[in-house]
Amino acid sequence: MHFDKERSMPAGQLRFILNFAIPLALAAGLSLALYLTLIWSARQSDQLAQQRQTQLVTLIVSNMQAGIAHDQESSSVWDDAVRAVTHQTPDREWLNNNLGRWMQTYFQHDGAFIVSPHNTLLLGFLDGEIDQDLSYARIAGPVQPLLAKLRARLKEKDDTGVDDHVLSIGESDITSIDDRPAIISLKPIISDSGDVEQVPGREFIHIAVRFLDGSFLDAIGRDYLFENLQFARVGETGEIQSRAELRALSGALIGYLTWTPFRPGTAVLNSATPTLAGIAVSLLALMGLLAALAWRRSAHLIRSRRQLEHMAHSDALTNLPNRARFSSYLAGVLAKRQSTDLVAVLYLDLDRFKDVNDTLGHPVGDALLVEVACRLKETMGKTAAMVARVGGDEFTAAVQAADSETIERMCDALVTAIRRPFVIHGHPITIGLSAGVAIAEEGCKDARELTRKADIALYHAKAAGRNRFAIFGSHMDELVRARREMERDLRLAVQDIQQISVHYQPVFSVECQELRGVEALVRWRHPQKGVMPPDVFIPVAEETRLIEPLGEIVLREACRAAVEWPGLTLAVNASAIELRSETYSVRVLSILNAVGLDPARLEIEITESALADTSGHCERNIAALRAIGVRFALDDFGTGFSSFGRLQRLDVDRIKIDKCFVDGFGKPGGNEEIVRAMINLAQAKGLRTTAEGIETPEQSDVLKRLGCDEVQGYLLARPMPAEAINAMLARDRDAGRG
Ligand code: C2E
Ligand code: CA
Ligand code: CA
Repeated sequence: MHFDKERSMPAGQLRFILNFAIPLALAAGLSLALYLTLIWSARQSDQLAQQRQTQLVTLIVSNMQAGIAHDQESSSVWDDAVRAVTHQTPDREWLNNNLGRWMQTYFQHDGAFIVSPHNTLLLGFLDGEIDQDLSYARIAGPVQPLLAKLRARLKEKDDTGVDDHVLSIGESDITSIDDRPAIISLKPIISDSGDVEQVPGREFIHIAVRFLDGSFLDAIGRDYLFENLQFARVGETGEIQSRAELRALSGALIGYLTWTPFRPGTAVLNSATPTLAGIAVSLLALMGLLAALAWRRSAHLIRSRRQLEHMAHSDALTNLPNRARFSSYLAGVLAKRQSTDLVAVLYLDLDRFKDVNDTLGHPVGDALLVEVACRLKETMGKTAAMVARVGGDEFTAAVQAADSETIERMCDALVTAIRRPFVIHGHPITIGLSAGVAIAEEGCKDARELTRKADIALYHAKAAGRNRFAIFGSHMDELVRARREMERDLRLAVQDIQQISVHYQPVFSVECQELRGVEALVRWRHPQKGVMPPDVFIPVAEETRLIEPLGEIVLREACRAAVEWPGLTLAVNASAIELRSETYSVRVLSILNAVGLDPARLEIEITESALADTSGHCERNIAALRAIGVRFALDDFGTGFSSFGRLQRLDVDRIKIDKCFVDGFGKPGGNEEIVRAMINLAQAKGLRTTAEGIETPEQSDVLKRLGCDEVQGYLLARPMPAEAINAMLARDRDAGRG
């Protein structure tokens, strides 16, 4: 069997994208954007901080310049100092103590010099060099222009910049000494009181030197928290370093102060990154989880939808495809079949399945159906085919084969397979299979029509004795047409009750052949076809439920007639369909009332099939009618399924032994023993017995011997119109009188 598997890959991919990829990409993108923004703002704040740091370094250097000048003033603006330098024989010791070494000890200046008005060196030293001339030679170059400028200003008495805090004018510059950056600051040695006279421009000049590397950098690095603060010559700065230019007044670039920049943004970012990463990861994980949940939910929905689809297309019990699925499959096969291939539809129906269900119960019936489905599939094997369950015990199959012989062999195999006994829940069960086959003619595309033909063929297979298959032929169509016609005509007959009449077959006591009652038997006189036998039209009436109005017509008519026959029992046949109707007992009662017949004179004949009713209506109808005195007889006793077992549960007053038992009397393997057992059983249960179809005096004798109560048959009387019964009664009365 083959099913076209649903191709769902593109839908699956789309679902993956919608459920997983997009939300995750969104979350990841969002996290990334957030992180990039953070990096950008960290960079911004780092840049700002670096600008500030550079400004700060520049400021520190220029403050240092001012500071050195201020340091100098503590000794250079001093009467004693002026006197000491201008003295004929200057006291070198004193000068060194107060304007030389002292500056180094006290202010950490690296060099100090005193230059006379003739620009000769009076005294001096420079870090690492004791010889004062050599020392001065090292600074002479940058000092010269400053010295000239300062003297010019002194001469002009230019005291720009002098105020409460700055006591004297001075010149200072940043320069390079032996490749080391340094501040050189020049201050005149002048009187603090103004009492010591000096010629302007001819003052002694004090020069202070402070190198801007080494201890200076250590100190400001410590005080201002600069990391790796260093001096770098031009072209020697490293990559990541921040730097501040050191420029001489002339604009010449001396070098740079460099340091590892403090990057607050990066610092914040670095410390926040693990947390942010954690948050991002959690966010992604959460999104992933949500997406996974959504995915599972949608997967679940899809599964449920597939399940529903499967359920909509298959039978829950056997898991076979159902009618809808079969129809679409068959339509598909017919639409695209190759012209050389034969396509056949098989309509399969189980024989006696209903009996199994009724006697052994539905669970056994269900299990049997599952087994049957297995055997059908097994037998069909791998041929291009589909088996479907289309009703209670009805199956259909579509078969593709090269020739009709193959199809016939297949049907034969199916019938044989189902005939093999089943064992269900420990019960050995034997059932049968009837199959109707319709082979699609060339060009036939109508699946419905083909199935209909298979159904008709099935009807014929059953009519021909079950446990076999029949292949549809056009003559079958004719029968179906006739059946439809009958249905239509019967519908008319029920409305125009002139066509319906009732015959009565007398029932006699076996003992003295005395007339005890009559059985009402319906007769239909068809306007064109004449009298129709009930065996033909009753099944049609039952199928179409026309049996209900028909049964009522017969019952009313028979009751009316029976009113005229006091002392006789009136037997009326009732179909199972009628008894299953909720209102049956009420309708019978109202007819009895309307006609005025004593309910005790009415006996309703039912068959076992009426008792298979599960709704309970049938039992309630019987109980209600028995309560008002109506009696019941079990018709065709012995032909049904497990009659003896059934009898235990039945609420009837009489059994009618079927004609087929009576027929066997006197023949080899005859049924006398069975009939004896039936009668004994009935008597044990207090039931009366009637034997039907007595045609010979011998049969009558046997029944008399066996203790049967009443008999009925052509030997004694055929069914006859009411007038004939009247005449018969009149004859009896006359005979009685006579
Ligand atoms: P049944 O209830 O078993 O009725 C007995 C049938 O056997 C009648 O056939 C009767 O004519 C026939 N019969 C009686 N004695 C002999 C005999 O000695 N030899 C032979 N060969 N046949 C004999 P009928 O009237 O054709 O009825 C056939 C069946 O139709 C009935 O079988 C009954 O099942 C059904 N039927 C008839 N009338 C009604 C009705 O009003 N309502 C329902 N629901 N079913 C009816
Ligand atoms: Ca009957
Ligand atoms: Ca009968």
